[in-house]
Amino acid sequence: MFDKLDFGKAMEVAKRVDLNQLMDVVLNTPPEMLQALIKQAGAAGSNGGNGKPTTKQLPAINSDFYDLASLLSPEERAMQLKVRKFMEEEVQPIANEYWGRDEFPFQIVPKMAELNAVGIAYKGYGCPGMSFLMEGILAMEMARVDSSVGTFFGVQSGLSMGSIYLCGSEEQKQKWLPPMQKMEKIGCFGLTEPEVGSGTARGMMTTCKREGDTWVLNGKKKWIGNAPFADLHIIWARDEDSNQVKGFVIEKDTPGLRAKKIEGKIALRIVQNGYIYLENCRVPEENRLQQANTFGATAKVLRMTRAGVAWFAVGCSMGAYEHCLRYAQTRQQFGKEIGNFQMVQDLLVKMLGNITSTQTMCFRLSQMQDAGVMKDEHASLAKAFCTVRMRETVGWARELMGGNGILLENSVARFVADAEAIYSYEGTREMNTLIVGRSITGFSAFV
Ligand SMILES: Cc1cc2nc3c(=O)[nH]c(=O)nc-3n(C[C@H](O)[C@H](O)[C@H](O)COP(=O)(O)OP(=O)(O)OC[C@H]3O[C@@H](n4cnc5c(N)ncnc54)[C@H](O)[C@@H]3O)c2cc1C
Repeated sequence: MFDKLDFGKAMEVAKRVDLNQLMDVVLNTPPEMLQALIKQAGAAGSNGGNGKPTTKQLPAINSDFYDLASLLSPEERAMQLKVRKFMEEEVQPIANEYWGRDEFPFQIVPKMAELNAVGIAYKGYGCPGMSFLMEGILAMEMARVDSSVGTFFGVQSGLSMGSIYLCGSEEQKQKWLPPMQKMEKIGCFGLTEPEVGSGTARGMMTTCKREGDTWVLNGKKKWIGNAPFADLHIIWARDEDSNQVKGFVIEKDTPGLRAKKIEGKIALRIVQNGYIYLENCRVPEENRLQQANTFGATAKVLRMTRAGVAWFAVGCSMGAYEHCLRYAQTRQQFGKEIGNFQMVQDLLVKMLGNITSTQTMCFRLSQMQDAGVMKDEHASLAKAFCTVRMRETVGWARELMGGNGILLENSVARFVADAEAIYSYEGTREMNTLIVGRSITGFSAFV
């Protein structure tokens, strides 16, 4: 190394800057960023190989191309930026590491609670009472950095709290929503079963049977996000007597309830999904969600949260696009940044088209949700369409990065893998398509 060191140049540099300080900066800067800085500095003195000097400033990376942020109120915009800052500072630096280890970073929970973003759209019970649009924007911001952390948040704020908010009695809401809003109690939502996924409306096998003031639950649930460590388990079960689906809030450590982590996932690895086993689990009537008397109650919860999943798809696409655009501006081949090549620009513009169309679709969907006119088919169309576009977008991002696109350290690989789970959960593309198909034709094609 010393053979190659030009002491003359080093002396020149030492006259201009503190060399020790410079070395500290260099040693503490991630290699990817350092290379980008060197290339940018180089670009200031050349235009990529033709010898003509240029001081070209590259445009800032912006995945909100139609400036939807300008449509938010100052309060909403401040909340968006607060959550973005949290995700970039607290989650981004550790996301690949925890994803690789298939572990959940519990240390982020208190700071996440401080955002006061849980239950953002709900009124009362310590919740901020903002809007579903705000909820969607926050889902997008989270997934832009990491869809797993976004999903953890969505299970808590949407599926679990939403079940209590929409289906609980006043007393139940007063009891459980405030501690969940502060994330003192973590929830999970158990609907899917090992043998019954898309068909839970008709084929749910977990049962409940009333015995005096107690219900006895038996069955299994699968895929349940947060289940391995949740304090409160929302469990849906079919009443053996009425054949109707009922909802329960079961406290951790209730005898007969057991959760086990699902190992070996290749998507959303930070989210801890689990099996839940119910073996003669006795639950008091006061823990039965008092407004949930048919499967329609479950569908009401899913309608509300499905819009959020469509927003996740937007965020996941944005994150992948931003990573690969940065790469296109710095990675050089044939003596130029690859962003100079027409086919690379074509990929980037197609990605941006997908992002912008799904962003605007979700924005309108949330406005309809806030106006109380969003129906199942509206949420289903957005969930199906946005997740298809997301899968395409993250695939293009991976393609643009060549071999580096499959390395976890470059993040885009994580987005590609996570997109697969977002594509399938909360109703597969087929199920959501059938919901829209039934609505527009008047014929139900469900079998
Ligand atoms: C990472 C992750 C997290 C999840 N988190 C939760 C959670 O927290 N809580 C929870 O309750 N569930 C959760 N789920 C479950 C999720 O909602 C289900 O995976 C989903 O509903 C699909 O069910 P399935 O996987 O059993 O697929 P299946 O229902 O077995 O479907 C298999 C395939 O057949 C297709 N298919 C099925 N029926 C039809 C039909 N009639 N017509 C056409 N095609 C059909 C499906 O579209 C799919 O392509 C999660 C899943 C994943 C992967």
